[in-house]
Amino acid sequence: MTETERKNPGDEDVPGTSQTGDDICPTCNGSGNLQQKPCPDCGGSGKITVIVGDA
Ligand SMILES: [Zn+2]
Repeated sequence: MTETERKNPGDEDVPGTSQTGDDICPTCNGSGNLQQKPCPDCGGSGKITVIVGDA
């Protein structure tokens, strides 16, 4: 079991998984900060990983 993938609370799946994509974090609106602290949902990146699903 590898621990290289990092998943934030706001991510729907682990980055790099098939059928996922980046989206603006709705919690911080992409700023990466929430109330002058790193956003807990995206880990301060401003982006979250979402499951795109079947294309
Ligand atoms: Zn965020």
